[in-house]
Amino acid sequence: MVNQRGAARLRAGHLWVYRSDLLESAPAPAGAMVHVRDERGRKLGSALYSSSSQIAIRLLSADEITEATLPDLLRRRIGAASDFRRQWVPDSDSYRVIFSESDQLPGLVVDRYNDVLSLQMLTQAFDRDDLRKVVLDCLAELFPDAGIVEHVDPHIRQLEQLPARESQILCGERSQTIFTMNGVRFHFDALAGQKTGAFLDQRENYAAAAGYAHGEALDGFTYQGGFALHLARVCQAVTGVDSSRPALEIAEQNEQLNLEQHRCAEIEWIEANAFDLLKDYATAGRQYDTIVLDPPAFAKTKRAVPTALRGYKELNLRALKMLRPGGILVACSCSFHVSEPEFIDMLGSTAADSGRRLRILEKRGAAIDHPALVNVPETAYLKCVIAQVLA
Ligand code: SAH
Repeated sequence: MVNQRGAARLRAGHLWVYRSDLLESAPAPAGAMVHVRDERGRKLGSALYSSSSQIAIRLLSADEITEATLPDLLRRRIGAASDFRRQWVPDSDSYRVIFSESDQLPGLVVDRYNDVLSLQMLTQAFDRDDLRKVVLDCLAELFPDAGIVEHVDPHIRQLEQLPARESQILCGERSQTIFTMNGVRFHFDALAGQKTGAFLDQRENYAAAAGYAHGEALDGFTYQGGFALHLARVCQAVTGVDSSRPALEIAEQNEQLNLEQHRCAEIEWIEANAFDLLKDYATAGRQYDTIVLDPPAFAKTKRAVPTALRGYKELNLRALKMLRPGGILVACSCSFHVSEPEFIDMLGSTAADSGRRLRILEKRGAAIDHPALVNVPETAYLKCVIAQVLA
């Protein structure tokens, strides 16, 4: 059923087979359980099939799973995913409960924001009524007091050729809540529009950054204030920049939420293109002690990597220009296609061009609730380098 290249990929430990590596054009119905075999008929495992995605096959198990045993397997895996977080994310009410391939549940993502769960079924298989019910029942049992909301990405439904669906509450009544990361509070509204929720994968990086941050701080792509609000706890003044007005409105509300609880530096929220703003500020000779750059993924494809690296370089160059001696740079990239060595290399050439000496304090990735599979590099996408400018 899969060609040599597809078989080699699975044997090397990856979980995906691309459509171009299938030997039959329509081997199974949309979203079905399939048994994967190589050209000689040797078994490669059980998988979930998509009739439209470029990722045609997502391996579920090396064992022979049938439609009859599938629900039980899913229940066990959902339970294991939840146990893992309860063990390793003990101090937060917000984390990714299920991270798709990393939890051997390819196509399923569940985030917990305090008492609201945000559920994403990203494949034909997990959109099947019977499997949706298994997942929902399981989650309702594990989190009996939580509201469960389905978060729909229309683009992904299109790719999977699934009928359009609205984001909606599936269980309970709650879709809004306040959640806490590292003691910092955030608003969450699961139905607030397309882009919603926090970047839970940065949770540990927020705390790490706050550990080094000081003085005057700038957060270049602040979204709803993730880094800025953490920095406000330890810095004298913080500027949070984003090009999205709605994101900044929530950021401001988040600031209010935290003012009641802690000492916070004042945060200035600026709606601007960070590229332009950094350029203007650098030209004007502004200086900072801490700068965070966490832009959106610049490289969505492999071909976009050189352009992405130029983008990262431009931003970080401006930042290095403005950092005082001893200053802290927190440079992030969530582009899977830009590897950590490439990203560090970019920082190296940026430091050289700016004539500054930069030393790495920490090389970090996503938080523990987004664990990466060694054989599936796509699960390791986030880079967060904390570095210091030497005098
Ligand atoms: N650091 C944030 C996440 C950033 S996501 C956190 O931890 O929560 C990327 C953000 O960059 C988005 O909010 C998006 O609105 C913003 N953005 C995209 N292009 C931008 C640009 N050119 N200038 C400023 N902000 C931009």
